[in-house]
Amino acid sequence: MKNIFEKKCKECSTIFIPYRSTDSLCYVCTKTRQAIKNLEKIKKVRKKALKDSIMTLQDYFKIAQQHFNRYINLRDKGKVCISCQKRINGVTHASHYYSAGTHTNVRFDENNVHSSCYKCNVQLSGNLIEYGIHLENKIGADEFTMLRERAYITRKYTKDELKELAEYYKRKCKELN
Ligand SMILES: [Zn+2]
Ligand SMILES: [Zn+2]
Repeated sequence: MKNIFEKKCKECSTIFIPYRSTDSLCYVCTKTRQAIKNLEKIKKVRKKALKDSIMTLQDYFKIAQQHFNRYINLRDKGKVCISCQKRINGVTHASHYYSAGTHTNVRFDENNVHSSCYKCNVQLSGNLIEYGIHLENKIGADEFTMLRERAYITRKYTKDELKELAEYYKRKCKELN
């Protein structure tokens, strides 16, 4: 005689007696499914830990710089080269007035980085005399002075700060795109 409380498991077709009326899986399948879920959780945590351990501070610098530079070039799109004031042909460079390596505090400072041409940024190492003149015109004398003050402060970055910077400029790029 068929027990009216019996159900057929949705997964393995075993006949089982449900604990709750809403149960659609047998005990074994319910337990297996839970175990798989837990395993996936563990995998996710492990993957994140692995990612964190292989990514160096330099890697995060690179990523943050990529998003920041992309933002600068989107912001300055259609503008002339900050240094030579000519139309930019070919690849647009995000050129630091105070160098990124030495002046850590203004490495990601929007007043310190502007679009330039390859010739000025690479061949003329920024073409800094021209850059300075046009930068002061662009941002104003007060901002120019404050930028110089900020430039001579040393700053260290943590991985988390760099991750945040990357996210921040990713969002800003999206807004401009
Ligand atoms: Zn089952
Ligand atoms: Zn130029």
